[in-house]
Amino acid sequence: MPDWVVHVAVAWSLCRILRFKYPQFNQPNTVLVMVGSVFPDALKVSILFELMGQDWWDYIYVVHLPIGSFLLAGIASLLFQKKKEAFLFLSLGIITHYALDLLLIQMGYGMYLFYPASWMGFTVNLVPNDDYYITIVALFIALVVYVLSEWKEKKIRSED
Ligand SMILES: [Zn+2]
Repeated sequence: MPDWVVHVAVAWSLCRILRFKYPQFNQPNTVLVMVGSVFPDALKVSILFELMGQDWWDYIYVVHLPIGSFLLAGIASLLFQKKKEAFLFLSLGIITHYALDLLLIQMGYGMYLFYPASWMGFTVNLVPNDDYYITIVALFIALVVYVLSEWKEKKIRSED
């Protein structure tokens, strides 16, 4: 699915850029951010249930609300030794997910970012959901970031 690719590519690029300044964005933590970036789309497992003739959509939909995603991140972070750190990196990924989803043209009233505190819907309505162009752009940016970071690392190594 193209949107998974976009979420993961953006999360990776962001971490790679941040790593220039913050060594905490090492590989394991980058993976956490990448996993977090697709957490809200865990709701797509309900498609599987649907295939089995069960309608779980209403229950699983809560995962694609920030409150549900962060709860999920909280539960997942219990599996880690450094729980707080794991939660923070997963959360960063979740935040990138909603930031990107905000750009999408939403059906209905947009995303309920502050549910259950508010039913206000948010959306920027910029990109149609089925626009593959954004996938190509995201992958291209990731490639540029990759080339730049490799080049910079080589430079640092040669200066040693
Ligand atoms: Zn989403």
